Amino acid sequence: MAKFSKNSMVLCFWLVIVFVISCANGVRLKKFDHPTKGDGTLNFLVLGDWGRKGTFNQSHVAQKMGRIGEELNIDFVVSTGDNFYDNGLTGVYDPNFVESFTNIYTAKSLQKQWYSVLGNHDYRGNVEAQLSPYLRKIDRRWLCLRSFIVNAEIAEIFMVDTTPFVQDYFTNPKDHTYDWRGVIPPNTYTANILKDVEKALSESRARWKIVVGHHAIRSVGHHGDTQVLVDRLLPMLRAYNVDFYMNGHDHCLEHISDTESPIQFLTSGAGSKAWRGDVKGLNREDVNFFHDGQGFMSVQLTPTEAEIKYYDVFGRVLHRWNRSKLLHSAI
Ligand SMILES: [Zn+2]
Repeated sequence: MAKFSKNSMVLCFWLVIVFVISCANGVRLKKFDHPTKGDGTLNFLVLGDWGRKGTFNQSHVAQKMGRIGEELNIDFVVSTGDNFYDNGLTGVYDPNFVESFTNIYTAKSLQKQWYSVLGNHDYRGNVEAQLSPYLRKIDRRWLCLRSFIVNAEIAEIFMVDTTPFVQDYFTNPKDHTYDWRGVIPPNTYTANILKDVEKALSESRARWKIVVGHHAIRSVGHHGDTQVLVDRLLPMLRAYNVDFYMNGHDHCLEHISDTESPIQFLTSGAGSKAWRGDVKGLNREDVNFFHDGQGFMSVQLTPTEAEIKYYDVFGRVLHRWNRSKLLHSAI
């Protein structure tokens, strides 16, 4: 009996150790290595809130993305979510995928990898379908996961699934139905995301650290700030010297500077329907740029320079922002 108790205690001890280690580690985010052109530069476009079968000027924006994509010789495209309106995809055979993506972004320069997060509208459809590798058989450019990392040598891009952070979708869904498979309970799910992102950020040695989510941290558009992200995600971005937070959700283009760190908040959610006419706080000194209309954003990086540009539906540059970083020796 005494021997049994001793063995049980030893077993319990090891179970506790394993549990503590696994809690401390979290689940590692999947990382995709994206080799760049080899000249130390990285160029990509950022687009959000787009999939409307070409309507609401989606096709015009796509055309201009093609031209700018060629000029910049882009490496890939980042989508900030709300990929398919109004209610995501119904399944992997939903024609909306081809009608809103494959048939719209036809320019040669856009035949690159697309890295996408989910938006709240995507959660109103069959989420598993939008995440399914089967879509890559239809269009090899498509890659959408809940949260993951793109390692593009001089930059690491941390893609974060922000919709489950917003409690209102759970408690006040109105007449919408959300596909919450795999994210229930949301408190546990989001705590694990934050743990994973923090671990990845702490290990990152990239020159540029970029976090992408669907919901804004700071916005003067219709939806405004996402307070839960201000409270739970922003402190982590500040602590690990993230350079940019990029998002969609508000159907506009915005550039807002953090008041307490060098972080720049960049909204690119103007891939189709825009002109909401709802803006507040434009006179704030942290707001550098706001465009209530369709368009997209480009990001050009070298080890020491970053240039962000915003384009309207005609492909005209509306706003340009540059930052330099001193090279310092690796530790
Ligand atoms: Zn949205």
